[in-house]
Amino acid sequence: MGIGGPRAAMVGMALVSVAALGGCGWQVAAEPAPRPALTSVTTPTSVPVPPPRRVDMVPWRQPVEELFVHPLVLDPALAFTDDRLGRGFQDYFVTDREFGTLLDQLWRNGWTLVDIHRVVDGTVRVPAGRKPLVLVEDDVNYYRYFEGRGLAAGLVLVADGRVQARLDDGTLTDEDVVPMVEAAVATHPELSADDARGVLAVTGYEGLLGERHADQPTAHARLAALAARLRATGWTFASHTWGHLDLSKQPASTIMADTRRWRDVAGVLGPVDILVYPYGARPAPSLMQQLAAAGFPIQLDIDVVARQEKVGAVTLMSRRHVDGLAFDVPERQRPFYDVALVRDPRRP
Ligand SMILES: [Zn+2]
Repeated sequence: MGIGGPRAAMVGMALVSVAALGGCGWQVAAEPAPRPALTSVTTPTSVPVPPPRRVDMVPWRQPVEELFVHPLVLDPALAFTDDRLGRGFQDYFVTDREFGTLLDQLWRNGWTLVDIHRVVDGTVRVPAGRKPLVLVEDDVNYYRYFEGRGLAAGLVLVADGRVQARLDDGTLTDEDVVPMVEAAVATHPELSADDARGVLAVTGYEGLLGERHADQPTAHARLAALAARLRATGWTFASHTWGHLDLSKQPASTIMADTRRWRDVAGVLGPVDILVYPYGARPAPSLMQQLAAAGFPIQLDIDVVARQEKVGAVTLMSRRHVDGLAFDVPERQRPFYDVALVRDPRRP
C-alpha cells in the first residue's frame, strides 16, 4: 500500500475538511423539461422501421469545452441546510432538476458530447452545425457524508443492462448523472457523437461508485460488471487521486504513494490514463511529468475558458464548473445554458 499509520491519520484529517467543504471545493479566480421514461417502446414487427437519419459528421479543430458536475442533489431540503456542509452542497453541487434542464439546454444550444480521447488525439467530430463538449462528473464515489443528505448512495447495474442510482434505502432511481445522460441521448441522439457519454472521476478512500469495500469479492464482482457496462456504453473513467489530494500542496512522495494506492483500488475499472486534479489544483511542472510517467498523460484542471495545451508529456485541459457558484455568474454560462431556466427554485 505504501501509506502507513501517520499518513492515514493525515488523510483522515484531510477528509474532515473535505467533508466540511461538501467534498469538492475547487480553485479558480473565479421548471425542468419533461423527460420520457426509460421503459423501452416495443415496435410491432409489421411496421417498417425507417432507416436511421443520416448525419454528416464534421471534424472539429478548435479548443473543446468541458463542463463538470458532482453527483446530483435529489432532495434539496436535506442537502441545502444552513450549516457548513449544506453551504458546500449549495456552492459545489447541482440538483437533479438543474441537471435535467442543463442537458436540455446543452442540446438546444447545439452542444454534443464527445469522447475525451478523441479530443486529445485531435480526431473529435460532431454532427454538422454542432459543437463538441466533454462532460465530467467528479467524485462518483458517493461518500459517507452524502448519507441522509438527499443524494444517491451508489450506481447499480440492473438486470436489463441499464445503470441506475441507488438511494440510501436501496430504492433505485434514474435521477442521477449517468441515467439522466442516457435518457437525454436516447431522446436526442445528436447530443452524443460516436456514442460518447462522459468522464467519471473517482477517488479511492471510500471505495468506488458507491461500493465501499471494493476489494471484497462480491463487491469487486459487482464493480467489474458495472464498470464494464459503463465503458461499453461510452463512459470513461478517470482518477481523482486516492485521497482527494491537493496536488499543489503535497510533497511528491505523498502524491506518488497516493497514485499507487489509487491504482490498487481502481484496477477493477480497467485502464485509466486521465487524472482530474482535486480542487482543480495543478501540481508543480516536474510532478505533472511524474504523474504522466505513472500513466496519467491526460490531466484536467479547472478554468473558465476552454484550454488544451501540451506540457511535456502531458495534455493539460481545463474544465468549467457547473454548480451554485457558477449560477452566480450567469453571463459566463450563456453559451451553454440560461441560469434563469436551470437554477432550481428549491435552492435557498
Ligand atoms: Zn473532487
